[in-house]
Amino acid sequence: MRINKILSLKEYCNPCKAKCCKVSDKIGFSIISEEEKQEITEYYTKKYYKNPACFEKKNFGNEHYYVIKYTEKRLCYFLDDKNKCMIQKVKPLDCAIYPIKAVYGKKDIKLVIDPCCPASKELSQEFIEKAIEQSIASIKRFKPEVYNNWLEKHIGWVKKSKRLKK
Ligand code: SF4
Ligand code: SF4
Repeated sequence: MRINKILSLKEYCNPCKAKCCKVSDKIGFSIISEEEKQEITEYYTKKYYKNPACFEKKNFGNEHYYVIKYTEKRLCYFLDDKNKCMIQKVKPLDCAIYPIKAVYGKKDIKLVIDPCCPASKELSQEFIEKAIEQSIASIKRFKPEVYNNWLEKHIGWVKKSKRLKK
């Protein structure tokens, strides 16, 4: 299933200079499904005439997911020198919904927000509604134990996140 990723915070992201694509515990370590990896690879190869050599496979039991390796400067592989995402049209779902994320609580799915994102206090209702819908679609692609393994290892900000007020 293709999930609609059209969410944009452009007006905040331009002055922020893609802070969240530069720090290792932020969205650069997005969880990526097999389907997303293929889509990004096809898009990138067609556009830049080379294979993106940046996916790191993480095995967990019989399941797996991917994360994007960082460059030596601790930037996301897909961040260009103008602080733009080179794969904007097919960027990982988890990047598209940032600064919102769904996490597994004890009994249900909770929604959290990263207060470090400059846009986090000014998100439109439309963005929040779309991000909630897509965060839930995103988390459901992975079993709780797989998703929690990724969160634990790659997304430090969730420990300092706030519960999303809808
Ligand atoms: S931290 Fe927030 S405002 Fe800055 S680039 Fe990321 S999403 Fe945009
Ligand atoms: S894929 Fe794009 S949006 Fe996601 S961290 Fe990399 S540069 Fe940023």
